[in-house]
Amino acid sequence: MPWPCTCSVSSPDNRSQPNPMPFVNRLHQLETVLQSKSPIVLSNCRVFFDFDNTMTTSDVLDDVIRRFSINDQWMALEKAWDEEKIGTKECLTGQLKNVRLSKSALHKFLKRVELDPHFHQLLTLLVREGIKPVILSDNFTYIVEWILNYHGIKDLKVYGNTLRFYRDRIIPSFPYDNPFCLNCAHCKKIHLTKDKTENKLIVYVGDGRSDFCPAKVSDVVFAKGSLLNFMHKEALPCIPYKNFSDIHHYFQEVLTSGRKNN
Ligand SMILES: [Mg+2]
Ligand SMILES: [Zn+2]
Repeated sequence: MPWPCTCSVSSPDNRSQPNPMPFVNRLHQLETVLQSKSPIVLSNCRVFFDFDNTMTTSDVLDDVIRRFSINDQWMALEKAWDEEKIGTKECLTGQLKNVRLSKSALHKFLKRVELDPHFHQLLTLLVREGIKPVILSDNFTYIVEWILNYHGIKDLKVYGNTLRFYRDRIIPSFPYDNPFCLNCAHCKKIHLTKDKTENKLIVYVGDGRSDFCPAKVSDVVFAKGSLLNFMHKEALPCIPYKNFSDIHHYFQEVLTSGRKNN
C-alpha cells in the first residue's frame, strides 16, 4: 500500500528522519513515483481532521472565550498554556468559569464561523472514494456539530469534549482525557490507535498543539501552524499545507495514480 510520496510517510522505521518538503518538491517526487507500477489506493486510508483553524478559518473556541468572558482572567490562563505550564484541560476549565452566555447567543455567534472554502470540495472527493473522514477536536462536540449542521454537513462522526448548559454557564467534561498525557484535554491519539485490525494508513490533518499527540502516531500528516513547527522540531516527516485546496490537490493526484496503476 505504498503512499506516493515516500518522504512524507512516517513509519516506525523512517519516523526519525527529518524531511520537511516544500509542495513543489513533493509534486516532483510524486510525478517520479507515478512512473512506478505500485498500486496506490486512497480508499486504503482512514482520514482524520482537527476542527479549529483546520476545518475553520478561525479558532472558534478561543473566540467564544474571548467574546463571552466577563473579565480578563482567561488571558493569564492562555499565557500559562502557551508557556506549557498548564495543560489544555486546566486552561479550558479555568477559562470557562468566567464565560457567561445563553444557548441562543452562542448559536448567533457560531453562525459567523467560516469553514475552509475548499472543505466541501475535499469532502465530496473523499466520500466519492468511500472515505468518511472523522473529526477529532479539542473543542466541544456540541459546537462542532452545530457548525457542521449549519453548513449542511450532517453525517460526519465527531469526537470532542462534552458540555452542558447550566443557566448562563458552560460546564465542560472530558470523556477522552488521557491520564498519561499532560498536554491534551481530548487526547486524540486514542481514536487512531484503537482499531489496529483495519491495517489502513492513517492520514491526519491539523494545525495546533492538540494535534501533536495524534500526529506522532499517524502515517501521513498534513501540517500547518504550530503543528508544522512541532513536526520540524521533532524531525518528523509531514506535508505542509495552507488550506484544503492543497490537500484536495494532493488527494486527487493519489487517486489519479491509483487508477493509472490499477
Ligand atoms: Mg486546531
Ligand atoms: Zn495527548
